[in-house]
Amino acid sequence: MQDQAALFGAQLMQPGLTGIDSEENTLRPQHLEDYVGQEKVKQNLKIYLEAARRRGEPMDHILLYGPPGLGKTTLAGIIANEMGVQIRITSGPAIEKPGDLAALLTSLQEGDVLFIDEIHRLSRQVEEVLYPALEDYALDIMIGKGPSAQSIRINLPKFTLVGATTRAGQLTGPLRDRFGVLLKLELYSPDELARIIQRSAGILDQPITPEGAYEMAKRSRGTPRVANRFLKRVRDFATVLGDGVIDQDVALMALKRMDVDGLGLDELDRSLLRAIIEMYSGGPVGLETLAAALGEEAVTLEDLCEPYLMQLGFLTRTPRGRCVTHLAYEHLGLKAPEGDAAPEDNGQQSLF
Ligand code: ADP
Repeated sequence: MQDQAALFGAQLMQPGLTGIDSEENTLRPQHLEDYVGQEKVKQNLKIYLEAARRRGEPMDHILLYGPPGLGKTTLAGIIANEMGVQIRITSGPAIEKPGDLAALLTSLQEGDVLFIDEIHRLSRQVEEVLYPALEDYALDIMIGKGPSAQSIRINLPKFTLVGATTRAGQLTGPLRDRFGVLLKLELYSPDELARIIQRSAGILDQPITPEGAYEMAKRSRGTPRVANRFLKRVRDFATVLGDGVIDQDVALMALKRMDVDGLGLDELDRSLLRAIIEMYSGGPVGLETLAAALGEEAVTLEDLCEPYLMQLGFLTRTPRGRCVTHLAYEHLGLKAPEGDAAPEDNGQQSLF
């Protein structure tokens, strides 16, 4: 069964997530206490985990949502670890047919965590199979065709589904309702990212100063994955061009050579802001129109660029489309139009 599940893009993990993408894995915290930031999520999760442990029951199904790279996969691994169970990792698009899901579910053991990344991309047919599995730990299978077809029910071990999505709004109502716990991950503060960078540098045996870590943290777009990526690249510069230590000077030099600006905006972020300013007078402009103008997928803009630009207060979403703010003009060294053009700041608007 295990082999069968592997065929469908799932991976069986021992607690601690050994086996996938080993480079990223080495940096993944294994326990809740090592998971930096997301205090509210951690506090609540701790209670839910403790309660489930005391009752000797598996955790209720959990939905994690938030932009990519914020630690959803890591958290799923931690949940399995804390419960002392195995985790099996797969993703919505990898489960093509109901049979794929059935193979996965029947290969689980009592208490296991099934992690489905990009769960909003499950097909309807697969979702239908998932409902009874989540609610009654059972699979309803049709045998035969036509009038002689029969439905049989197979009992499954009690398991915990951890679903992750960048877009909770795209989940169907029935699926969303079957999660007992919904946890929203927020972008991280520069202080938290500096702690993550220092922790990762420790694991990589890389000497780093607090100032060096903070320079990278400020530019990491609120995202641990970006922070760890910067650390690895800046480390290359420190090794080849410096004395091996990442200090503020090395970090600044390396980030400049990587074309990362003072706030961590990359070329795509800047093109997005410039397009709204130059082609649409600061907005509003619809997402699809903007994506076509930039030759990018709308989801790329929505998932990768917009959350951070909104956190910086550079971009707002209005019912009529996206608008840039005066802060964005300033950052790009452009003069903002007088009067009504760019709404200053409507506050960070909900992503979902
Ligand atoms: P997601 O599944 O949300 O895309 P991941 O869980 O794959 O994100 O996290 C990306 C990387 O960031 C991982 O290598 C992990 O080490 C690191 N990371 C994420 N969140 C944290 C955190 N809270 N503390 C420390 N490292 C983190």
